[in-house]
Amino acid sequence: FVADCSKFQAGYVALIGKPNVGKSTLLNGIIGQKLSIVTAKPQTTRHRILGICSGPNYQMILYDTPGVITKQMHKLDELMMKSVRSATINSDCLLLIADICHPPEQVLGTLDEGAVNLIKSKPTLLVLNKKDKVKQSEIQKKQEWYEKNSGMDEVIPVSAKFGLGIEEVKQWLVSKLPLGPAYYPRDIVSEHQERFFVSEIFREKIFQLYREEIPYCSQVNVVRYVEREAPAKDFIEIEILVEKESQKAILLGKEGKALKTLATAARLDIEDFVDRKCYLEIKVKVKEDWRKNEELLEHFGYSG
Ligand code: GDP
Ligand code: MG
Repeated sequence: FVADCSKFQAGYVALIGKPNVGKSTLLNGIIGQKLSIVTAKPQTTRHRILGICSGPNYQMILYDTPGVITKQMHKLDELMMKSVRSATINSDCLLLIADICHPPEQVLGTLDEGAVNLIKSKPTLLVLNKKDKVKQSEIQKKQEWYEKNSGMDEVIPVSAKFGLGIEEVKQWLVSKLPLGPAYYPRDIVSEHQERFFVSEIFREKIFQLYREEIPYCSQVNVVRYVEREAPAKDFIEIEILVEKESQKAILLGKEGKALKTLATAARLDIEDFVDRKCYLEIKVKVKEDWRKNEELLEHFGYSG
């Protein structure tokens, strides 16, 4: 048996919704394991966390965007909004999540113009979450109302918490992914999940904190990840490879200050992600032309 690669579908899905509607819970339901942090406190999703769901003939990469699509915004909200924008612009379809109990004016009325335009330009699924909280007749009424009046391509009521309707959501999302090869190794979620996300968080921070060539010449490698029972901290050994001594100097900064800033920023996000305290040990190494070294690339999971 030879798999038909021409039928493989891969792409990006952006999750949008206000805080507390159940985005993280739904994401975890779709992927089938705990990936982002579910919490009763609103706005704890500070950075967008990427989840990957791979099947035999598809791979979807989900962004759990911070839920801040409101008209009045503070400075921090604006910054978060920017990451919402970039996540949605790069996505192949949108997944708008709302609380079925919220009034429709609240669900649709707070979407700003940019969000509305994005919704018009991509296939959009409206998920009405927490259907376990209302009666069947009410669910149907809400669904019909949104189908008529919201302008979304599809409306599916679900209960993320109780796993109802998730399969239908998954099928709709997969149907919107373009044909193409997988973006990431297919076993990444099951086998290297935490290591992978730790290196992704580092990559994101390096992009935010350094200019020019640094983000492109550095490779973050999680050498060791040791989970420990609280109150002990998880131990994470990280190696950052660059190509030249001069790049190493930039990465470290004066008296190592730049690296310290990077380490702290990354650690806070990693702790948020794994939901435990972490201790990071970071080594910066010069490895000439690591990008050209096929053996190394294979080791890092880049080979096809
Ligand atoms: P986020 O802020 O949008 O990421 O929302 P979370 O996934 O963190 O969930 C916020 C709260 O809503 C948590 O207390 C969840 O347990 C709860 N929740 C999520 N999905 C459902 C659902 O389908 N039904 C009910 N009753 N509660 C839910
Ligand atoms: Mg969340």
